[in-house]
Amino acid sequence: MERVRDVSELPKAHLHLHFTGSMRPSTLLELADKYGVHLPAALTGGNPPKLRATDERGWFRFQRLYDIARSCLREPEDIQRLVREAAQEDLRDGSGWLEIQVDPTSYAPRLGGLIPALEVILDAVDSASRETGLGMRVLVAANRMKHPLDARTLARLAVRYADRGIVGFGLSNDERRGMARDFDRAFAIAREGGLLAAPHGGELTGPSSVRDCLDDLHARRIGHGVRAAEDPRLLKKLAERGVTCEVCPASNVALGVYEKPEDVPLRTLYDAGVPMALGADDPLLFGSRLAAQYEIARRHHGFTDAELAELARQSVRGSAAPGGVQEKLLAGIDEWISD
Ligand SMILES: [Zn+2]
Repeated sequence: MERVRDVSELPKAHLHLHFTGSMRPSTLLELADKYGVHLPAALTGGNPPKLRATDERGWFRFQRLYDIARSCLREPEDIQRLVREAAQEDLRDGSGWLEIQVDPTSYAPRLGGLIPALEVILDAVDSASRETGLGMRVLVAANRMKHPLDARTLARLAVRYADRGIVGFGLSNDERRGMARDFDRAFAIAREGGLLAAPHGGELTGPSSVRDCLDDLHARRIGHGVRAAEDPRLLKKLAERGVTCEVCPASNVALGVYEKPEDVPLRTLYDAGVPMALGADDPLLFGSRLAAQYEIARRHHGFTDAELAELARQSVRGSAAPGGVQEKLLAGIDEWISD
């Protein structure tokens, strides 16, 4: 019988993890206690909350839980703790590179404004990286519920801080609101400033939202992108251009994008040659971290160890990690599979 390798020992890159969403549930309880924040039962139950984001009410509920959790991050030391623990959790799951996604606007009111908030976040990432040894970078994500001018401001700021660890620019929140092209100027600023374009698309809405990310925002990566599976021509395009989809299976099921883990079209994307980087999205709300996503590929989609190794390679190649880091991770993957 073939032995089963431990996916938490498979070196990989984690490219889809939101800031507050990366928090340990136990840390949320402690911080809520520290600030006297009353948490709804959905956040204290020990089990991930039941969410159904395929309608606007369900998405609103998800956002509300996220906002409550975020309201427990008030001081720089909370931010430092969050990032350090996210790095520790990632390392435990075999991550060798983490790109964490944040909209600093949401933290600005409590941290003295947009720029101070971003600096606190970047400092926290830098020290967590040095403390834990995990390579970490930041994607600044604009919120598509806000005005495109806000996104432009954010893009300019992200470019200005590129040498402090920002590697990409994203766009998150409800895909059903606004058009990707409303944000084309912001993305142009980001791209011209050397940042990777990585907007969310193809999660709550269909293939057309992925196509918009490609055509209007010149995305090099897509947050989620799974709904591209509904359009073979789009899959071909993604494969030809080598656009990596940051696929988050547990999140998709938790938010009701797909009914069951086996419904997430991992096989369809993989067989079409679309590069993927499995990610946890918001472990705080979805109840599972990075290695668990690879476990889903194995258990529910029959990915062999060789295929899991290939998924890990795709995550590394899709990352913004420097060449040396990528080589080391790829060598580690070869070692894992040849062991
Ligand atoms: Zn996301």
